[in-house]
Amino acid sequence: MFSNCDYDGRTVAGIGRVCYVDADPEGFDGAYRVIGDDGIAWRVFGWEVEPTEDTEWDGIMVRTGNLVCVMIGDDHPHLFHPSEIEEIDRLEYCGECGQMGCCHDGLERVE
Ligand SMILES: [Zn+2]
Repeated sequence: MFSNCDYDGRTVAGIGRVCYVDADPEGFDGAYRVIGDDGIAWRVFGWEVEPTEDTEWDGIMVRTGNLVCVMIGDDHPHLFHPSEIEEIDRLEYCGECGQMGCCHDGLERVE
């Protein structure tokens, strides 16, 4: 229904039931972990956006302040506040299964 809406001139994308806009220029590239959880590495897809009561008329959605994050190797969106995640080094996680501490993706790691 809101697939043609935009936010700040940026196209709104969707994953599952969540709508989001690209996190550029804030630049949430790389991989992240949820603070306090060293299980799985996450990718940040963008900022969650939601329609307002005017969206039907002006086509503008607003950011909720949450980031749409997806576990590496998964495709289900989860919402986190930026203060809940922190960037991790490429060597800290597996590029195939996303698990932190797994070394099966073939990257050379120095023990
Ligand atoms: Zn792995």
